[in-house]
Amino acid sequence: MSDDLHCETCREDVSRAAATRTETYGDLDSDSWQTLCCPTCGSRLKTVFVGDE
Ligand SMILES: [Zn+2]
Repeated sequence: MSDDLHCETCREDVSRAAATRTETYGDLDSDSWQTLCCPTCGSRLKTVFVGDE
């Protein structure tokens, strides 16, 4: 199973390792959740749980 993400804006696949991590918006705990963004256009791709890292 691949961890790759897909950017709808660039129409490119982005590996999870290459994605830009940013803090989440809103009330989510930034220690447990991070948003993965496209390194090319900055679009949000996915919000992931990182609390067990
Ligand atoms: Zn993109």
